[in-house]
Amino acid sequence: MEQFDVVVVGGGPAGATAADDLASAGRKVLLLDRAGRIKPCGGAVPPRLLADFNIPLSLLVARATAARMIAPSDRAVRMPVGDGFVGMVDRDHFDEWLRERAAGHGAHRRSGTFERIERDEQGRAILCYREGRNGALVKVGAAAIIGADGARSAVAREALPGAERVPCVFAYHEVIRAPEQDSAAYEAGRCDVFYQGDLSPDFYGWIFPHGDTASVGVGSAHKGFALREAVAVMRDRNGLAGCETIRREGAPIPLKPLKRWDNGRDVVVAGDAAGVVAPASGEGIYYAMTCGRMAGEAVAEFLDTGNPRALGLARQRFMKAHGKVFWVLRLMQYFWYKSDKRRERFVHMCADKDVQHLTWQAYMNKRLVRAKPGAHLRIFLKDTAHLLGLAKVAA
Ligand SMILES: Cc1cc2nc3c(=O)[nH]c(=O)nc-3n(C[C@H](O)[C@H](O)[C@H](O)COP(=O)(O)OP(=O)(O)OC[C@H]3O[C@@H](n4cnc5c(N)ncnc54)[C@H](O)[C@@H]3O)c2cc1C
Repeated sequence: MEQFDVVVVGGGPAGATAADDLASAGRKVLLLDRAGRIKPCGGAVPPRLLADFNIPLSLLVARATAARMIAPSDRAVRMPVGDGFVGMVDRDHFDEWLRERAAGHGAHRRSGTFERIERDEQGRAILCYREGRNGALVKVGAAAIIGADGARSAVAREALPGAERVPCVFAYHEVIRAPEQDSAAYEAGRCDVFYQGDLSPDFYGWIFPHGDTASVGVGSAHKGFALREAVAVMRDRNGLAGCETIRREGAPIPLKPLKRWDNGRDVVVAGDAAGVVAPASGEGIYYAMTCGRMAGEAVAEFLDTGNPRALGLARQRFMKAHGKVFWVLRLMQYFWYKSDKRRERFVHMCADKDVQHLTWQAYMNKRLVRAKPGAHLRIFLKDTAHLLGLAKVAA
């Protein structure tokens, strides 16, 4: 039986990053991906992602230099990014580029569907997969396994009890042919974010420009909320109803990191499989790649030392770097996405220049930001005044 140092299940941003790092470091890696389906995704990425993971600008299909936040009353607040941008990637090209880079650095790339993990007499992992989606069963030996097979990960379900109970938002979007001319309702260099209860009772709706195309989508954790109808309403309201629809697709977005990412033996999960998507924003690509990198580092330490406790470093390091931000965003989602009254106040707050500066700096650089002296305090006071209903919201 063929033997690998690491089998990475899933060739999305998390898995392809882990496979690339490990193969570049000389490990024998199998990168297994089910293939055949483009990941449904708005495709918005921060500049920090390009820098951290050496991604060429040529993979961006658009750069948004402003966002427009729309309140339940239809009041719109424009937030110019300043000296940065929000990058847009098309996931079919972006993910394929990442997988090819990993293969170029020595990862063995195969198309197949993970089935299960078996054990040999010594307890070593044998990973079983089907060629393609329903082909022949193949078994390979693996000293370590990284489960990067997305939300509802089959690897996590098999290796980590309780993983299937992670809470999710369900997100649905339509990829449409973008209007050729900019208008008040659509700009090729602007992201629109809709905080309106009829479009999403607990999350938000978006229109993201992707060059020739655009992503129009909504998310909600409410079972039974009519996502397709909400997108139809959003398209209609923004003059996009007549644009050609290229794809309609949806997928769950996990909202909480799993309590454990490894089985204490030889399996660790990463990306959506580990539940690492930023609450409130649903941003997952940057965090999946960061998490994939950290899972790769933890696995390398495990392979070097033979100590399975090293696998726990992936979660420890990730939560140390991003746990606080996730906590703040979870609180934000809890408070501000509750009712149209609160959403109105939230959008009103976005008109504040301090809020805009800190929001963009935090988004682009993924660090807590040093603000002008007093800015954090001012924002805190304004935030509290809005929360308590003491601040006036302009009609
Ligand atoms: C509608 C929508 C819009 C979004 N918009 C944004 C956005 O604008 N910006 C952003 O940052 N994030 C966004 N996200 C979140 C983002 O898409 C995810 O967080 C990110 O893709 C996670 O990467 P991943 O590598 O962990 O998982 P995935 O990208 O889901 O990749 C998992 C891979 O595993 C493979 N796989 C699955 N099961 C198996 C199996 N059994 N065997 C073998 N392979 C398997 C799949 O083929 C896939 O390639 C959005 C999500 C949705 C649903």
